[in-house]
Amino acid sequence: MQIPFLDLSRTHDAIRAELDATWHRVLNRSRYILGEEVEAFESEFSAYCEAEHAVGVANGLDALILILRAYGIGPGDEVLVPSNTFIATWLAVSQVGAKPVSVDPDPSTYNMDPAGAAKAVSSRTKAIMPVHLYGQPANMEAFRALAHRHSLVCIEDAAQAHGASFAGRRTGSLGDAAAFSFYPGKNLGALGDGGAVTTSDPAVARRIREIANYGSREKYVHRQQGVNSRLDELQAALLRIKLRHLDDWNNRRRSVAAAYQAGLAQTGLTLPQVDPRTDPVWHLFVVRSGQRDALAARLDQAGVGTQIHYPIAPADAEAYAGDPIAGESHLGRTLGREILSLPIGPHLQDEEIRHVIRACQEAVTPDHRTGAA
Ligand SMILES: *Cc1c(COP(=O)(O)O)cnc(C)c1O
Repeated sequence: MQIPFLDLSRTHDAIRAELDATWHRVLNRSRYILGEEVEAFESEFSAYCEAEHAVGVANGLDALILILRAYGIGPGDEVLVPSNTFIATWLAVSQVGAKPVSVDPDPSTYNMDPAGAAKAVSSRTKAIMPVHLYGQPANMEAFRALAHRHSLVCIEDAAQAHGASFAGRRTGSLGDAAAFSFYPGKNLGALGDGGAVTTSDPAVARRIREIANYGSREKYVHRQQGVNSRLDELQAALLRIKLRHLDDWNNRRRSVAAAYQAGLAQTGLTLPQVDPRTDPVWHLFVVRSGQRDALAARLDQAGVGTQIHYPIAPADAEAYAGDPIAGESHLGRTLGREILSLPIGPHLQDEEIRHVIRACQEAVTPDHRTGAA
């Protein structure tokens, strides 16, 4: 049995008639930029996220950059970011000329550690940018309190956590503003690139709309040096269809995760731990092993596709080779050597889930102890 790490075609095939009708609707209307599909998606998505406003943008990286710009964060400023995240979180900070300051995770949830973040605050810190990594919300209660204490902007990188919640509230409504990505492989993915910012501050939403549309609110009146970063009508229309299925898909991910937790409990692999205040959406299911590479090779032989999220910490990326890295990246590095993502998604059949579990049970060797506590 071959189980690919990700298979979007199965998910799309299941809703093919709806997607087909949507292409035709957009083509027949022939409006492609900033029209009624984007407007409708923005209002449906903000309602879904329990935020007042959503602004469609070109991708998740731009969503982060636009939030930082809207809050006036730039050269001389520092932003706290996790040591173990996709590099986009760091690049957004660097793009606006500010400095990313690395904070190590809590090794049980993989999310940014509030105590480490508190230690990393300096007189130059302007914002804190926790990531809801792998689909589990970060400890937003602690981060909001920290932001409040030091007058920082609290920005959620929610690119992996559409529909997750913390203490009963959805991601996208947990900080001052949140960035979402609709990259195809995300829990809510477009059929191309896309992104959104959610916020409950109307002034921030207005500023982001303006910067993302060439710095203008009115055609040919350019109030600032903006960029072109818009969600297009076709992607918005397709996202509206997919948003209606998101809760079902997230629930299916939750049952795959529950099956893995039960089936792998006795293997000695380190399994993900869930903060009881959160309801994660399992963008990824990440296990840890001291023999990670051997485990991945055995799973590959058994037909199980795996990936590593992420093998190289941003601090160690060549992109940052010339920059003195501020903050701590020790734990982020150790995790990078031990983590392995198993296949997860709404497309997996029960029989495939059982195959993955069996393959893991057979693949573990006696010494799977992990280094990072
Ligand atoms: C995917 C992702 C992004 C970037 O989103 P794009 O749409 O690919 O630009 C940012 N942060 C995290 C944590 C992500 O997983």
